[in-house]
Amino acid sequence: MKEEVIFKSLNGNGKVNGRRHPEAGEADGFDAMGDHHIATSIETPLRKDAFELTDNQKMEIISEKFREILETLGLDLTDDSLRGTPHRVAKMFVREIFYGLNPENKPHISVFENKFRYNEMLVEKDITVQSFCEHHFLPIIGKAHVAYISSGQVIGLSKINRIVDYFARRPQVQERLTVQIASELKKVLKTEDVAVLIDAKHLCVSCRGIQDDTSSTVTAEYSGKFIDRATRDEFLKYVNL
Ligand SMILES: [Zn+2]
Repeated sequence: MKEEVIFKSLNGNGKVNGRRHPEAGEADGFDAMGDHHIATSIETPLRKDAFELTDNQKMEIISEKFREILETLGLDLTDDSLRGTPHRVAKMFVREIFYGLNPENKPHISVFENKFRYNEMLVEKDITVQSFCEHHFLPIIGKAHVAYISSGQVIGLSKINRIVDYFARRPQVQERLTVQIASELKKVLKTEDVAVLIDAKHLCVSCRGIQDDTSSTVTAEYSGKFIDRATRDEFLKYVNL
């Protein structure tokens, strides 16, 4: 609901938190979409030629473009401190914070037979989420809580963290991230009985726009047995929500 307030404020007196907002009067379609954090698809929107360039070629191009951005902002790239920034940013984009765009980096998950015949819910909570808002390219930092009920297959616990990290490391919206993690777990574990809940802070909400430092966003995807109220409540009790 807070997002609603931002938009109205920008269209009204153009003031947020008592200050005139830099976007005041320019709340066009793009700004509105970004501030509402609207996702248009469950799949990450990728170009058909997304992986025709090698990582090194991508880093070279991004480095050059980022240099232009810095120079456009008026920064002197001959300064020792700034000289390496375009390269560092390019490397960080391709190899670190957006590595999850490339399907080749998807973690290989092996499943095991459920020898213990543990047929109850397995919950892994407080998994670190470090992602980036695709509307502003600012961090989304939070925790994911994941649960499943085995249909006969189990996976190593750290693999759940790897799946969360892989889908987080791309420009994201939190709703899509939640659904992508759930759908991958369903595929790997061959069960519909999966729950994924993410509670995260969006830096684009805290350090720009409405500048709300305390709110967080919760998204959840429940399927199979987790649609059942009692099963869902048991999961929420384990994760203290
Ligand atoms: Zn954002």
